[in-house]
Amino acid sequence: MTNHELFQRALQLMPGGVNSPVRAFKSVGGEPFFTARADGAYLWDVEGKRYIDYVGSWGPMIVGHNHPKVREAVERAVRDGLSFGTPCPAEVTMAETIVRLVPSVDMVRMVNSGTEATMSAIRLARGATGRSKIVKFEGCYHGHGDSFLVKAGSGALTFGVPTSPGVPKANADLTLTLPYNDLAAAQVLFAEHGADIAGLIIEPVAGNMNCIPPKDGYLQGLRELCTRYGALLIFDEVMTGFRVALGGAQAHYGVKPDLTTFGKIIGGGMPVGAYGGRRNLMEQIAPAGPIYQAGTLSGNPVAMAAGLAMLELIQAPGFYDTLAARTRLLTDGLQAVADGEGIPFSTNRVGGMFGLFFTREKVDSYAQATAADVTMFNRFFHGMLERGVYLAPSAFEAGFLSSAHSDDDIAATLEAARIAMRLARS
Ligand code: PLP
Repeated sequence: MTNHELFQRALQLMPGGVNSPVRAFKSVGGEPFFTARADGAYLWDVEGKRYIDYVGSWGPMIVGHNHPKVREAVERAVRDGLSFGTPCPAEVTMAETIVRLVPSVDMVRMVNSGTEATMSAIRLARGATGRSKIVKFEGCYHGHGDSFLVKAGSGALTFGVPTSPGVPKANADLTLTLPYNDLAAAQVLFAEHGADIAGLIIEPVAGNMNCIPPKDGYLQGLRELCTRYGALLIFDEVMTGFRVALGGAQAHYGVKPDLTTFGKIIGGGMPVGAYGGRRNLMEQIAPAGPIYQAGTLSGNPVAMAAGLAMLELIQAPGFYDTLAARTRLLTDGLQAVADGEGIPFSTNRVGGMFGLFFTREKVDSYAQATAADVTMFNRFFHGMLERGVYLAPSAFEAGFLSSAHSDDDIAATLEAARIAMRLARS
C-alpha cells in the first residue's frame, strides 16, 4: 500500500487521518508519509524511501531510532510481563536516576505523557499555594490540558487557533499569558496579580514556536519574581530535559525551578512523562498528601526499561559535547548555504536542539518567529523531503539531532539544502 492510499484510508477513520495534529502536514501542505521502520538517523516509509530524520519522534530518539541497547532492554522486560499494577523495581531505579541527574528534583512521580505531567504539576502548584492563577507564555506548548490551550504553540499555533474551542472561559481566565523573553512584562504582571499566581510554567528553551533560547538572565529574573511573590516556578522540560544537557535546561542555565516536568527522552520512545521537585511539595501528592493524581499504567515496567536504557546511554562521557558540535555543524552549514544563495535565514540552537527561520533577524521572540517567512519554509521543507531529509513539518517546531547522525548524514543534508534553498526562493 502506498503513502497516499494509506492516508486516504486514514482520513476516513481518524480526524485529519492522524492521532496528533502536526503529523498531518496541514501547515506545510501535501500528505504525510507512513513510516514502516526506523533505525539510527533514518526513517523508511512504506514505499521504501529513506529519510534522514531531524524530528526524532518529536524529541525522544536522542540516541537514534531502534538503538540495540534500548531494544534489548525492552525485549528483556517484555519477557517478564507487560504491566503489573503493583510497584516494580524499575520504577525505583528510574526515580533514583532522575533525582541524581536533575539537582532540583528530590522526588518524582511517573505518568504516561508530557501532558499528564504538566496538568499534574499545575494542580500541585494550585494545591500547595492555595492560589488559582497560572502564568504561561505566548507560543509555549505544555500539552493539551485546558489550562494550556491559551495562546499555545506547536500544532495549536499552526492551525491558527492558539486558544482552542472547548476550553471553558472560566478555565482560560485563570491562565495569564506573557510574551517570552520579556522580563519587564513579567514584572508588570506579577505586580498586578502576584498574590493570585500559583505558578509560572515555561519551556526554559522554547521549542514549540520553532526554537528560541532564553535571553541572558531571563530565567534567573523569572526565578526571582516567583520567589518574591510566593509563586512556584515550573520548568516544562518535556522537550529540553536530557536534550540540551544531561541535567536539562536548568543545569545548562544554572536556574533551580520548584517543579519540573519531563517526557519524551525519559521514556526512550515509550509513552512516559514525569513530574518532580522539592520534597516538601512532592509530599503533598497522594497518597503521601491530599493532592490527587493517579494512573493505571504509570511506571509501566516496559516503559521504565526503555527509558532507563536511554538514560544510561546519554551518560556516556562527551555525549552532549558531540551532540552540540554536530548540531552546530548542521546549523552553520545551513546558514552558509543560505548566505551563498542570498536568502534571508537565521538559526538558533542549544545542545541537540535547533531552529531554522527564514528571516535575517536573530530570533528571540514569538513575534519574530511568527513574522519569519512561512511560505519559504514550506517550500524548503518539501525540497528537503523530496531529497530524503525529514524536517519537522511546520515552521513552528524545533528540530532534533541524535547521536546516530553522522558527519556524512549532515553533509548529505547540506547537499540537499543547496537545491532546497533555491526552491524556497522561487
Ligand atoms: N510540554 C512540552 C514542552 C512539549 O513539547 C510537549 C509535547 O511536544 C508536551 C509538554 C506534551 O507532551 P505529550 O505530547 O507527551 O503529551
